[in-house]
Amino acid sequence: MIQTRLGILGGGQLGAMLIQSGIGMGISISVLEADAHAPCALYATSFVHGDPMRYEDVIAFGQDVDVITIEKEAVNVAALKALRDQGKKVFPSPEIIGMVQDKYLQKTFLQQNGVPVVPGVLIAEKSELAAAVQSLPACLKLCRDGYDGRGVMMIRNQDDIRDAFDAPSVLEEFVSISEEISVIVARSEQGEVRFYDAVSMVFDKEKHILDYQLCPARISEQVSRKASDLAIAVAEALDLVGIVAVEMFVTEQGEVIVNELAPRPHNSGHHSIEACITSQYEQLLRAVLGLPLGDTDTQAASVMVNIIGKADIGSNLSQSVRSLYSLKDVHVHWYGKKERAGRKLGHVTIKNADITLALNTAASVRKTLND
Ligand code: ADP
Repeated sequence: MIQTRLGILGGGQLGAMLIQSGIGMGISISVLEADAHAPCALYATSFVHGDPMRYEDVIAFGQDVDVITIEKEAVNVAALKALRDQGKKVFPSPEIIGMVQDKYLQKTFLQQNGVPVVPGVLIAEKSELAAAVQSLPACLKLCRDGYDGRGVMMIRNQDDIRDAFDAPSVLEEFVSISEEISVIVARSEQGEVRFYDAVSMVFDKEKHILDYQLCPARISEQVSRKASDLAIAVAEALDLVGIVAVEMFVTEQGEVIVNELAPRPHNSGHHSIEACITSQYEQLLRAVLGLPLGDTDTQAASVMVNIIGKADIGSNLSQSVRSLYSLKDVHVHWYGKKERAGRKLGHVTIKNADITLALNTAASVRKTLND
């Protein structure tokens, strides 16, 4: 039916779930990835060993595909621009990718488009930090290459200033967060827009890593409307083709502020595989292949728990994961990655019409995984 050759830069679990949703669309999916054992190696039509950050690798990869998308932001933007000049379709645009690669550029873009963000200043080098700190605590974020909380540190005192990152960073005011939420928006080349219900992301306060996530989010209808309006405004301002996860903070005063953008499939949309009519993965394929966008309605409440590698590698994590298959309402996704402390190895989605029951099951899933 559709004979497009799609290329994905990055071969992790997000790419693998994209491939999973592309089965049945009659497309071929090639993946460019540096790690020969990455999840997509098992499933891609063609798994090309190369570095998505390397100009030559991306150019060579692009010759055999018609449409290119990403599953991570760490890719070579100049090469994507050159491929677009050759007539390849590149979604999201290289300009969007280049902008989100840098937290300061991202903040500036959002501010210029009237989107509320956490006030912040650029710290070009560590020596500028002490003078720039207006009040404590504050939050310092590396401009580039931070993810899953690596690259974020709280500045509470002089010792933290001394031990701060020594690379270009953004110094942000500390926000009293009442809820962290995410809204995923899809937008097509024709400007058709669909958004998903907001999800709440519950973080481990120490590690700044997601503990679990639930949908519908723990917010009022009014806050939910504000959040989806903002997320749609972001997608329009980006002139996006594809999907974007808009991560937001809800403050104790009920304000909604954008924290960061991810113009690709996102952890906060894993639940959409089981809990929404169209998953974020299928939606991205629809958007980049020029198909009508799908219905984003939520069919049932859900809780999503990441499976994270433990410090004690000799633990019986895989045994615990096997035991989850016996639980009702539980959908296990195991990425087939090598176990390493702190690494996302899989996720579990618990789906139930009743969010309280889903949360109860999630509590036993988390206990099983943490024991
Ligand atoms: P990453 O790109 O690593 O996910 P984030 O910008 O999302 O980094 O920050 C990680 C976490 O740190 C957030 O989820 C939030 O809990 C906390 N955080 C980030 N910025 C602030 C801030 N300005 N004030 C208070 N907490 C923050």
